[in-house]
Amino acid sequence: MKLAARIEKLGTETAFAVSAEARAFQNEGHTVYPFHLGDINLPTPPNIIEAAYRAMREGKTGYAPNAGIPELREALAEDVNKSHRTHYTYKNVAIQPGGKPVISKFIQALMDPGTEVLYPNPGYPIYESQIEFHGGVAVPYGFQQGVSNFQIDLDAMEKKITPRTKLLILNDLHNPTGAEANLTELERIATIVREHDLSVLCDEAYFDIRYEGTSRSLVSLPGMEERCVLLYTFSKKYAMTGWRLGAAIGPEKVIDTISKLSLNDESCTNHFVQIAGIEALRGDQSGSKQILSILKERRDVAVSLLKQIPGVSCYTPQATFYLYPDVTELMERKGFTEYESFRRDVLHKTGVSFCTRLHFGRALPGEERKYLRLAYSGIDVGKIREALERFKQYALD
Ligand code: PLP
Repeated sequence: MKLAARIEKLGTETAFAVSAEARAFQNEGHTVYPFHLGDINLPTPPNIIEAAYRAMREGKTGYAPNAGIPELREALAEDVNKSHRTHYTYKNVAIQPGGKPVISKFIQALMDPGTEVLYPNPGYPIYESQIEFHGGVAVPYGFQQGVSNFQIDLDAMEKKITPRTKLLILNDLHNPTGAEANLTELERIATIVREHDLSVLCDEAYFDIRYEGTSRSLVSLPGMEERCVLLYTFSKKYAMTGWRLGAAIGPEKVIDTISKLSLNDESCTNHFVQIAGIEALRGDQSGSKQILSILKERRDVAVSLLKQIPGVSCYTPQATFYLYPDVTELMERKGFTEYESFRRDVLHKTGVSFCTRLHFGRALPGEERKYLRLAYSGIDVGKIREALERFKQYALD
């Protein structure tokens, strides 16, 4: 069989290849310290699991409405209105099997072939994949090292806007860097959006994975509710990555279109999983608080150990469960000029497995510093200590 030509444009998440390599190394009898994948090794809170069981026993096992069950849509609109100061009703919410489907449905709903779409690079690789797969032009914008964290390079972003630019993808609380925009930066983004008449996908997968301060959303700013679609997910906050539950939240016309795409693609999101989602939002929150406090301890331990490694520097992001240390000097000292041989050398000599900048999009011209991405969502604090001690020893050898 001959595959369709457009398949050549479809990208992938190369982090899964790192995972396969780490597993193969482990199967040979080696210890592996998994910092490569953004999955969570903590259980979903028991009240959510119980609610799913109950729903199954009560027969919630058939098809559900393609936009989601009204009770969950309502609960989510209410929840988001509180944290975002928005005015959504259930009609603004399309329940999805995870947050990820919102990316392709947003693009399919709003992007004509040839349209230019601004997207973060480094960034979640699915943006680039879906823009190009659907015939758009993926226009990357980058990040700079600021005083206490990475920041979007807004000057460079603005320069890339042309009359063909219609969409902006913003992943504030950013994977992989942990960057977040402050209020002044969000206001500047809102001005750019208004001036250039852009529609925005606000990928807020990590909105609630926050250890200090308060998350802010572009959608809270004047005039942004009509121009933004939020990507919401239960995956991270409630350790529900494998349940596949998320939502698109935005203007009714776009949400109806996204629901129509859902009807064509998967009919609906699993009914009893949606009922568990209502419990997640409205029930006891101690489970998600516990998840957050475990993640915070991991972050603190990982950052303090990374900072002791010669040739490595690292910010302390207040949100997400990723670290993006600069390893330029370490790679130079060890004689590596490219990422993959360095990554493999560290894996084989220490068992520490991570992704690098390479796994988050094609590097931008002029990018000289070298970065790793360490996810601490899937590794316990004791193992983090052990792993980073080994990495430090590797750096000193
Ligand atoms: N967006 C970003 C930036 C992510 O990092 C992820 C997952 O890692 C997702 C979206 C999708 O998450 P999910 O489909 O599990 O909700």
